[in-house]
Amino acid sequence: MTIQSIIRKAIKRLELEGKLLTPDFYAEAFCKEALKAGIKSEDCSKIEAFKKTLNKEFQKDLKQYNIKTTSELIRFLISKLNRTNPSHCAAILEAQTALSKKILNAIEALHNQQATELAKQNIKLLSEEPSVAEIEQFKQLWINFVESYDDTFLKSLGDVDNSNLKKNIESINAISKEIENNDFDTTKLGHIASLLISSLVPSIAAKTSNEIINLSQKLKKEPQLLDSDGIEKTIKKAIALRIALDKESVKEMIASLDGVLDKLSSRLIEMIESSDSSNKEIKVIKKDLESYTEYNGVNFKKAHTKLLTIAVSLEKHTKSLSHDLKVHSDEVAMLDKKVKKLEEELQKAKEASKEDFLTKLYNKRALDEQMEIKESEYTRYGHNYSVVMFDLDHFKNVNDTYGHAAGDAVLSAFAKILKQEVRTVDIVGRFGGEEFMALLGETDSKGGFIFAEKVRKHVQKARFMYKGERIAVTVSCGVSERKLNTSLKSTINEADENLYKAKETGRNKVVYKK
Ligand code: GH3
Ligand code: MG
Ligand code: MG
Repeated sequence: MTIQSIIRKAIKRLELEGKLLTPDFYAEAFCKEALKAGIKSEDCSKIEAFKKTLNKEFQKDLKQYNIKTTSELIRFLISKLNRTNPSHCAAILEAQTALSKKILNAIEALHNQQATELAKQNIKLLSEEPSVAEIEQFKQLWINFVESYDDTFLKSLGDVDNSNLKKNIESINAISKEIENNDFDTTKLGHIASLLISSLVPSIAAKTSNEIINLSQKLKKEPQLLDSDGIEKTIKKAIALRIALDKESVKEMIASLDGVLDKLSSRLIEMIESSDSSNKEIKVIKKDLESYTEYNGVNFKKAHTKLLTIAVSLEKHTKSLSHDLKVHSDEVAMLDKKVKKLEEELQKAKEASKEDFLTKLYNKRALDEQMEIKESEYTRYGHNYSVVMFDLDHFKNVNDTYGHAAGDAVLSAFAKILKQEVRTVDIVGRFGGEEFMALLGETDSKGGFIFAEKVRKHVQKARFMYKGERIAVTVSCGVSERKLNTSLKSTINEADENLYKAKETGRNKVVYKK
């Protein structure tokens, strides 16, 4: 787009907006059209260039009044100028200079040489209508002063109040006056010295060092030494020495206690493992050890001695205990051996025995043997024999009524009757419990019956006495004969069956096959 066409459009715009073709209106319309056409004109950006040179407050106002043209800007500036009051500015400047001078006077009166010097020069400068650069230079000098100012030296006076130096100085003056007039209370130092001396004595170690003794003696004589130079270093050294002495002592004591306790614990373990009768002793020791908690203070020496005594007595005790145990265990082993031997012998004797222990008749094993003999005599030589089985009637009642011992006595008495009635060649034995058997050689069942009847009657008549009481006893019998049977076994079975019949048919009788 050419400049001519922009000019034409600007004129048309003025016509449309009904504005006169004045230079200002034209310039405004031209700039709008040029902006639209994207052409930058130096004349149109003049205002922006001016705006940038104004202070922030003015720039804000320009935005607020929507100032776009040069003439508007000029009008704005004229009105601002008209409104400013030069006499007001001069008055403020004067007041500020006077205030600065007063502040500087105050600083001059303070007790800081550097600040006083700087304040003096600054007052002089203010009276000579300084340039901005000169004022700036002083501003920097004050900044440097504040940054380098350091009053930590006051701390060397101890607990001082920084804000009240006068008071501090007054109290220091008072003390120095007291010292000058010899009014200072040296008894206070004496008291502190004696406290210090007692705190330097080791509380655990038995000995102290020469260095500590020397210092203590010196302070005792001359407590004022506490106020002298270099004493702090000496006291610190003595304190370190005292701590080292105590530490060493504790170390030694702990090491020796450790040894004793190791010994004690190993003895205790041995005792517990070797005997359970030591329970009582352990209880005593435990009680003893418990009483040590009562020593809240550290009485190591006493604890050491006591623990050692316990350890020694435990050692003795353990020795005698293990000796006893060894002797006893040898004895026990010997007795055990003997018992085993006796048991074996008893077993052998039992196996060899043919006698029933209660009745002294043949036992079951012997009866078996005798039956075999009788059987072989029968098969070889045809020697007949008969078997009689006896079973006491209601024998359970005897036991229940009079007791087992009474039952035993009845069994022995019955055995005697059997022995009395039997021929010497015949065999009688206890078959088991309250059952008995008779083997009668060269006898048939009739002969067996006669024998059994004799026994039965004898029993019925007999007076079985136990502890002054008479016990009524009867017996049932079953008889059989070998010849009438096919084997020993069937012969015995038949005698058994007959006995059963006797029981069934009323007891106290003998049954046999006629
Ligand atoms: P019955 O034979 O008339 O039918 O009656 P019972 O009471 O004798 O019956 P049973 O054969 O059942 O009981 C036998 C009892 O004999 C049982 C047991 O207590 C007793 N007896 C067995 N052996 C002995 C012994 O050695 N001593 C004693 N005191 N009693 C025994
Ligand atoms: Mg029976
Ligand atoms: Mg019976």
